[in-house]
Amino acid sequence: MSHEEHHRQHRVGWLRAAVLGANDGIVSTASLIIGVASANSGHNAILVAGTAGLVAGAISMAAGEYVSVCSQADTEKSDLLQEQQSLEQDYEGEVFELAEIYQQRGLEAELSEQVARQLMAHDALAAHSRDEIGISEISSAQPISAAISSALSFTLGAILPLLTAYLYHGSSLPIAVAVLSLVFLAMLGALSAALSGAKILTGIARVTFWGTLAMAVTAIVGLVFDVAV
Ligand SMILES: [Zn+2]
Repeated sequence: MSHEEHHRQHRVGWLRAAVLGANDGIVSTASLIIGVASANSGHNAILVAGTAGLVAGAISMAAGEYVSVCSQADTEKSDLLQEQQSLEQDYEGEVFELAEIYQQRGLEAELSEQVARQLMAHDALAAHSRDEIGISEISSAQPISAAISSALSFTLGAILPLLTAYLYHGSSLPIAVAVLSLVFLAMLGALSAALSGAKILTGIARVTFWGTLAMAVTAIVGLVFDVAV
């Protein structure tokens, strides 16, 4: 019998970023549109608000992702440098440090030292970065491409409620945007659940809950302003 499992861990990084971006795009743009529309603004003002929200959100997502990936890469780099120096200065101490980690994971003392020595003879820095710091792939962080894909997925999400607002004319525009956005969010939740191997209904519930909350709150904000002005 062949032993083959389909692990999905390697997908987590980009999937998380893409779903987060699209989710953010749908929720923030739909909420903006619903808030402005609930205050009885003209169709033009609604479209301006939605478009500005799309542009601002896409750039903000790109900036946030860029800064976050850069600072993660910086942290990894300085961790690895520190480890490299420790290996040069105190190789034996590092052998026992690693052996102790393997003992905590269940190896006997003698075996743990053998394992540590063999792995370190093969690639000492890789063994320490993986089993001590927890970095499995050295410097895989790509700040520019992370920024671009984040902005792109936000824009794809934001276009859906904006297009709805662009095409729909009428007083029930907030309801139309809310209902369609929930449908888009549910589809996104189902897609991400399917790709990550989670339960479809759980995925849908997770994504639509926050969208519903955001749109309900901004609708209230819009209604309050409509009454007040
Ligand atoms: Zn170490």
